[in-house]
This record gives sequence, structure tokens and C-alpha cells, in this order.
Amino acid sequence: MLLKSIPKVDRFITNIAFEGLAKSLITKISKEKISNLRENILQNKILSFDENLLIKDVIDEYKNITSSSLKPLINATGIIVHTNLGRSLLHKETLEKAFNIATSYNNLEYDLQKGQRGERYEHITKSLKELLDCEDALVVNNNASAVFLILNTFCKNKEVVVSRGELVEIGGSFRVPEVMNQSGAILKEIGTTNKTHLRDYENAICEKTSMLMKVHKSNYEIVGFSSEVKFEDISNLAKQHNLIDYYDMGSGHIDELPYGLGKNEPSIKELMKQNPSLLSFSGDKLLGSVQAGIIIGKKELISKIKKNQLLRMLRVDKITLALLEESINLYLKNELDKIPTLKMLNTSIEMLENRAKKVQKSLENILKTEVLNTNTLVGGGTTPNRKIPTVALSLEFKDFKANKIEKILRDNLIISRIENDKVLLDFRTILEEDLEKLENILKEIFKNG
Ligand SMILES: *Cc1c(COP(=O)(O)O)cnc(C)c1O
Repeated sequence: MLLKSIPKVDRFITNIAFEGLAKSLITKISKEKISNLRENILQNKILSFDENLLIKDVIDEYKNITSSSLKPLINATGIIVHTNLGRSLLHKETLEKAFNIATSYNNLEYDLQKGQRGERYEHITKSLKELLDCEDALVVNNNASAVFLILNTFCKNKEVVVSRGELVEIGGSFRVPEVMNQSGAILKEIGTTNKTHLRDYENAICEKTSMLMKVHKSNYEIVGFSSEVKFEDISNLAKQHNLIDYYDMGSGHIDELPYGLGKNEPSIKELMKQNPSLLSFSGDKLLGSVQAGIIIGKKELISKIKKNQLLRMLRVDKITLALLEESINLYLKNELDKIPTLKMLNTSIEMLENRAKKVQKSLENILKTEVLNTNTLVGGGTTPNRKIPTVALSLEFKDFKANKIEKILRDNLIISRIENDKVLLDFRTILEEDLEKLENILKEIFKNG
């Protein structure tokens, strides 16, 4: 009986409710739903059927499939370069400049003066040379690609000397020794987990050696009885032996950092004074731009990398190049407040306190909160274990566990942090322009106590 009342797909999809929606997708969803329905009726799991509910079901599924899965959210964790939340943000203006490139034809590979084929990388190279005083530069998909491409170009079937203490795994299963292996380089491990000396590098050099490499430890630190060799010394040694010196900086920052973060972490500009063979770093960690791997150094070496066929597989799109060029121009113009990563890092405690108090005040009738001075991390494999001061709002609930509150906030696209069993909203990473939105969401969630 019930089976008979189920509509045929052909007729069902002509319902006026589906007008304006893509017929092929509606048909596909309807087929699935109707077939499920039939199955459930046969198994006596369903005893009644309402066509209007089925229509609603199909439309909900249609909306679910066609709405974007990537969503903006409020990062209240305090971790600035948050690996899971999209790393660095771009300023609206940076994007607007790139908008024109993405929506128009452009001179990506066209020499406007000669009226003939030009070089894709020339545009960004010009800005990077100006900013970093490097002989040449190259940009690839990400820093992982940069490492791979460099090793593949110079160390295939040759030895590259690396300290055991720097053979790290960086999240997303990027393991330095495995990447080296895949690139065809022969890894020559030296030193011990906690200590590596310059003489270890010296002793490892033989006729098969091509490169002395240093890797930024990124997400861990060896404390206690430990020592590593400064890139400066590795670089000098490499020069004496006519070898390539290369530092995979991971994050890499252009200028000084606040809160003494730059201690033991020379900036790219400082390292360039050393006249290194090659450096590489990420575009969207402390640099604060878009995902990319930036390689700078000697012209002669970079022109060899450009000849590697692999570059074609790792090359970047015009949008990436346009965005990166805008970011580098911001550095050149010293408009660093338009680089959100740096702006967040440099926001004063007073300003964070003011924002926290303002949100606290707006919530005072519905929620008990406390303004706390605490610490956070930069994140993203930058400045490992270095705490920076921050201000957070602690949400106080008698009857709810912290992880329950965290989940409710998360369902409303606010990602918080739990510290000592308390749910914190950290103002270091809450954007100024999101404060009102944050207040409204919190009011909506907690208005009923
Ligand atoms: C982050 C990091 C990488 C990988 O960079 P991506 O831009 O994520 O590809 C490589 N090496 C080090 C030392 C890093 O910290």
C-alpha cells in the first residue's frame, strides 16, 4: 500500500519546489532518497510517508552539497599561525590588487617591451631582490616543494650533510629524512640528538659531498645539555670547501620580531648578510602572505634550479604570484599593519585588554566572564616554545564542562582554547573587525542562561 504511494522519480522532480535548481543534481538526490525510502518501507522501518517532507529533504541535501565546505571562522585560540585554521590571513586590499590579475588577461609570461614570451617568475623576483638584496629568487608551491626541488637539483646521488638534531617531522607527515630520500639525495647524518659541533660537519665532508644543510627545528626545542651549529659557521665551512650551503628556514621572518622572539632566530635579512648559497622559507608562516615556497640566493644556483623539469610540477599560479608580490610590496612600503600575521603579533597588551573588557561589558547581563593575562604561542612551526603575552576572556559556567562549552562555540564557528579546565577566548587572534560578530554570537548562544 505504502509502496504504491511513493512517487516515480520522473514525476517527482517536476515538482514546482525544484524550479531553478539544477535538474541533474535534483534527479540524482531524488533517486537516492526514493530508493532509500522503498528499502525502509520493505523492511517495515517506515510506516507513513509524506511527499512534502521528501521534497524538503531533497532540497536540504541539495543545499548541503552545493554550499561551500570551507567556512570563515573566529580563531579564539590565540595561536596566530594556526596550521589547522589556514595559517596566515591576507588583508582585503592585498586581495583586491590580485583580483584584477585573476579576472583579466595579464603579462604573466609576456614581455610587454619586446612583445614576446616573457618569464613567469620575473615579476616576483624583482620585488624580492629589492627587499632582500638577493642575487636571484624563485617561488614554488610551498616550502616543502622548495626543499625537495633544491635537494633534487643539487644532491641527487650525492651526499648532503645534516645534523641528527635537525631531522625533524613537521606535521602533515613532512619528515625531513624521508623528503631527502625521495629527492634522490644521500643523507649524511652527523652529531647526536642533542649535540652537533662544527667539527662533525668538517669530518663528514668527502668527495661525494655536495651540500651542507641546516633545517629549522620548527616545532620542537632541545633544552638542557645541547648545542647546534649556527648557519653562519656552516656557511663559512661550505665556502672553504666549495660546497653549497643551504638553510631550510621553515618559517622565516623578514625583519625583527617583538617579545624577543628573534633571539636565536636570525631574520632573512640578517642571514643574507652572510651571502649564503641558498635559503628557503614559507610564504604563509611568519612572512604573512600566501602559500608558497620562496627560494633566494646565488643567481648561478637558482638558474640551475630553473632548468630542473620538476619546477613545472611545482610551479605557482598567477594568483599566488600576484598576492605574494602585493605582500612583498607592503614590506617595501613598510605598511606592515596590512600584514595580519604581523599586526596580530604586534598588537599591544593594552589594546587586547580594551577589547576583552569591551566584550565582557557587552555580555555582563548574560554571562560571567573574567579577563585574564596569560600566554600564547605564535604556532605554525615558528619560534618553537616561545611564549608571548596575551589577554583572554575566561567563560565561567557552574554546570557545564569546559569541553561541552568548547563544542557549543565550535558549532557556532568560534574556535576557543581550554586552559586549566577553563574555556578561553584569546584576543591575540580575534580580529578587531570580528568583535561585534563575536559579541552577537555569544549573546545568541547564552541568552537563555
Ligand atoms: C613548515 C616547514 C616546511 C614546510 O613548509 P610548507 O610551506 O608547509 O610546505 C619545511 N621545512 C621547515 C623547517 C618548516 O618549518
